[in-house]
Amino acid sequence: MSAIGNSAASRDKAFVLHPYTNLHAHETQGPLIIERGEGVRVYDDANNAYIEGMASLWCVSLGWGEERLVQAAANQMRKLSSYHIFGHKSHEPGIDLAEKLIGLAPVPMSKVFFANSGSEANDTAVKLIWYYNNALGRPDKKKILARVRGYHGVTVATASLTGLPNNHRDFDLPIARISHADCPHHYRNAKPGESEEEFATRLAEQLEAQILAEGPDTVAAMFCEPIMGAGGVVVPPATYYEKIQAVLKKYDVLLVADEVICGFGRTGNFWGSQTMGMQPDILTCAKQLSSGYLPISAVMVSDAIYRACVDESKKIGTFGHGYTYSAHPVAAAVALETLAIYQERDMIGHVRDVAPLFQRRLRALADHPLVGEARGVGLIGAIELVADKTTKATFEPVGRAGAVVNGLAQEHGLIVRAMGDSIALCPPLVISEEDINQVFDRLTKALDAAI
Ligand code: PLP
Repeated sequence: MSAIGNSAASRDKAFVLHPYTNLHAHETQGPLIIERGEGVRVYDDANNAYIEGMASLWCVSLGWGEERLVQAAANQMRKLSSYHIFGHKSHEPGIDLAEKLIGLAPVPMSKVFFANSGSEANDTAVKLIWYYNNALGRPDKKKILARVRGYHGVTVATASLTGLPNNHRDFDLPIARISHADCPHHYRNAKPGESEEEFATRLAEQLEAQILAEGPDTVAAMFCEPIMGAGGVVVPPATYYEKIQAVLKKYDVLLVADEVICGFGRTGNFWGSQTMGMQPDILTCAKQLSSGYLPISAVMVSDAIYRACVDESKKIGTFGHGYTYSAHPVAAAVALETLAIYQERDMIGHVRDVAPLFQRRLRALADHPLVGEARGVGLIGAIELVADKTTKATFEPVGRAGAVVNGLAQEHGLIVRAMGDSIALCPPLVISEEDINQVFDRLTKALDAAI
């Protein structure tokens, strides 16, 4: 131990393989140790306070230290601390949560499957889609589309759906049968003078051409985050979903709404699908389902999909998919309490009250010399850093400017997330107007310091 040292930082470097980290840089840089949280703030081991402008990883909607969630977990721990729902076993927290989610779904849904993470929820959706098409006697209709810059997780299948180079490179991904449609990023990908509507039309035409090139009988589904999060908070252009959904319907391609970030009020409606006009066949959610307090995720499926799966199971026996912790009773109890708090405290109403200030201050950053675009909806947004506002030229190498602003924001007591040269903000939903102003005052200072 003496060669390693006793500090948490040195032991971190000695023992922890960090997810989503430049491993080489970490060997010199080391960690920021976060010790505790209260409201929208977290505190490091030297007691420095940070406003958590990202709600951890887009999830701690109710902020830190919500005693009701602590109590819900403790009570359930005492009553039934762990159990499964394989076979014909079940328990009330799982049943109650499934019923609640079906009641909240943006379109009629039939059943809920539980998992532990967004990745597992989306992985499950992929398997359900394949199972469904086998049930319908369409063994070739298996290809799945996602989008460049989309993010759907890191399992072998979901990292393949994810359309970001770091998730593929040297992991030997993507796997076969998964391909990517164009990213609906107007600022970056529209042609000069192309309106949002024209851009959306072109994207829908490109999607149709892609489906025809693949062969419509081989394309099963398309995964879409209502607003793309980890790809840089990309808000698709007006009329986009209306137009691509018409194409998907035409070729009998299912739509999966990945609501892992957008679900539970983030965009000012309960679901991002409602904000963006999506009618999914499958909906996946996680993160804010439990305010990020315990790992739990869910997949909701339409009756047509569920019925086909039942038919297949009748034919071949057990539906052979499930996680040990599917519907973990403690996680389910915490999720139920989270949903109760959203309702009692009118969380959507609060988001709608404070979002105008959040969006006004966000968009004002577009005047900053380093910012090419500021974009967002509700309580999620991003700024895109550029070396030249006229040409939209990026800083080289891509990602460096984002990392610099990220570090400077941290020095000013604000945690943001750099994704390439986009800086994302996604604070706890409970954030006050006063703290929203603090977020943007601090981010402005960080940007000024970066010039
Ligand atoms: N889908 C979306 C839209 C996400 O943002 C994420 C994670 O950020 C995931 C899926 C994967 O979730 P997890 O990290 O819980 O596996």
